[in-house]
Amino acid sequence: MATRQKTSEDAGHARYTYRLRVSSTARTALLAEWDRCRWIWNECVAKSRAAHAHNRASPGDKLTCGPAQLDKMLTEARARTPWLREGASVPQQQIIRDFAKSRSKALKDIDKRLPMRQRAGMPRPKKKREALPTLNYTQRGFRLKDGRLHLAGGIELTVVWSRELPAAPSSVRVYRDVAGHWYASFVVATEVQPLPATGAVLGVDWGVKETATTTSDAHDLPHPQHGRKAQAKLTRYDRMVARRKPKTGQASSKGHREAKKWRAKTYAKIARQRQDTARKWAKKVVRDHDTIAVEDFRPKFLAKSTMARKAADAAIGATKTALIEMGRKHGRDVRLVHPAHTSMDCASCGARTKHALPLSERTYTCTACGVVSPRDKNSARVMLVRAGLNPAGVEGLRPPGALIPEAA
Ligand SMILES: [Zn+2]
Repeated sequence: MATRQKTSEDAGHARYTYRLRVSSTARTALLAEWDRCRWIWNECVAKSRAAHAHNRASPGDKLTCGPAQLDKMLTEARARTPWLREGASVPQQQIIRDFAKSRSKALKDIDKRLPMRQRAGMPRPKKKREALPTLNYTQRGFRLKDGRLHLAGGIELTVVWSRELPAAPSSVRVYRDVAGHWYASFVVATEVQPLPATGAVLGVDWGVKETATTTSDAHDLPHPQHGRKAQAKLTRYDRMVARRKPKTGQASSKGHREAKKWRAKTYAKIARQRQDTARKWAKKVVRDHDTIAVEDFRPKFLAKSTMARKAADAAIGATKTALIEMGRKHGRDVRLVHPAHTSMDCASCGARTKHALPLSERTYTCTACGVVSPRDKNSARVMLVRAGLNPAGVEGLRPPGALIPEAA
């Protein structure tokens, strides 16, 4: 059975983010650290591209560009470049790790894509004027003393403690957003906060019109139209960015950078609203159910997907993440179900239709057992079955032969 189980034994963690007050000395130091990290990232990109080109030209002699090779590259680069050695090693090692992660994720996506014609999604160079500074420190790269954050390399920052940090953090990310504000985001191990057992289970299917269709009508989540109003803005900024785009070889203008900043701010706002909706929904679902079977949705990187599809994918992604996190926080059993054929199987008897239903077909009719049910509700029940849970008694299941009033 293609399910992965997340149980309460998983050590959870949460991020606690605070504004930073950054002196001009500290800012200069942070930006210098970022310059070095950015340089390393770009070296990684170059190395990875060179390896790819080499492997293409001579497939018999494969070059690899995994974490081990990249670590070696960093050690060598630090040995021969005093400028790199002036920087702390922790954030430099972390950016190598981030690169390796981002690269292996992209490679997996490419493997799945057929035919393999492009390498979209592979990590790209970080440009000086465009990439926002982000520095990651593991435990040995920072400490908190007298309420101040001390980073490796002697950088001292004042944290605005807007809420209490519940435990000692295991790592911190220091970053600047598009508006120019600096933040520290601490990772803290969290303890499971159990909720009372409910005896209820829930199946969740993701979709475009309804972000989540579930086996309980009270827990369906319609697609939030956050993008709607912001969409007009985005389109305007998109055009502005395109119009102000510099010619190849020319430096980007102030107007171009500004338009990009506005666009980024709008995106960030939509993402925040999305996350807020997702968390509220996840909280309700987790409170009301002990076990939740959910489609393990992975967005496809289709070049031609519509704006609506992209918005739906982003909403699903945020909602799925919120559900997994909330489940972990409260010790609920959230099971991820492989999405293959979930809309073709009958939740009642397990028969599979010969052809995928066209998206316009909203009703699932089983030719084997005669059950008739709304398409997405059937899929949600299939999640339960696939996760080894019993859908019997879940509301909304109609006996064979019963007719469903056509939705207007
Ligand atoms: Zn059936």
